[in-house]
Amino acid sequence: MLDAEFFRRWMSAMAAAVDREAGRLTELDSAIGDADHGSNLQRGFAAVTAALEKEPPGTPGAVLALAGRQLISTVGGASGPLYGTLLRRTGKALGDEGEVTPAQLAEALRAGVDAVAQLGGAKAGDKTMLDALIPAAGALGESLSFGAARAAADEGALATVPLQARKGRASYLGERSIGHQDPGATSSALLISTLADTADTADTGDTADAGEAGA
Ligand code: ADP
Ligand code: MG
Repeated sequence: MLDAEFFRRWMSAMAAAVDREAGRLTELDSAIGDADHGSNLQRGFAAVTAALEKEPPGTPGAVLALAGRQLISTVGGASGPLYGTLLRRTGKALGDEGEVTPAQLAEALRAGVDAVAQLGGAKAGDKTMLDALIPAAGALGESLSFGAARAAADEGALATVPLQARKGRASYLGERSIGHQDPGATSSALLISTLADTADTADTGDTADAGEAGA
């Protein structure tokens, strides 16, 4: 079972990953955007961890809802409302239970990903964060393995390289967006990867991931 502490640790792990990878995310955004994706998410997830420390919510749903609100209010770029919607909607779908199963999280994540698609009007193959999130939610729903979700997200992010951007700032470049990995798909792969890391270091009873716990 996954409790509020698990979700707080996931958000802290994401904040740390974004700090570590900010340079790379901004570099990717400088190729097909405006070079702010790393700093946008750094600012957003720093606010998320500060808010979660100040007043730790008691349920998984409330942790994600608070995180989503922080992202919406602190990130100026397109990614703020999109990530904020992802986390808020996922949190809402988890309801007010104190603990949730990986299956419940998989279903909630799918609702969150659907909300991102609805808000941004993008679909699979448009070279956006959805190209990592859709396969990740699909893999998690099918296998209930966070490791499988991580692999699917990483693969989806890499697969954005040959795509032409159809949504967001990168779409203004037309064919010149081809040949670069999408920054938002890359940060979404980080979000799923940190989820898998959090599961690896927790006793979730998720035997599908038991072999991947590492050191
Ligand atoms: P901005 O484009 O406003 O500078 P960011 O640089 O923080 O915002 O985020 C850019 C990322 O946001 C893109 O790489 C893409 O993955 C994602 N994105 C942009 N528009 C959309 C959209 N309509 N739907 C889904 N994702 C989008
Ligand atoms: Mg940008």
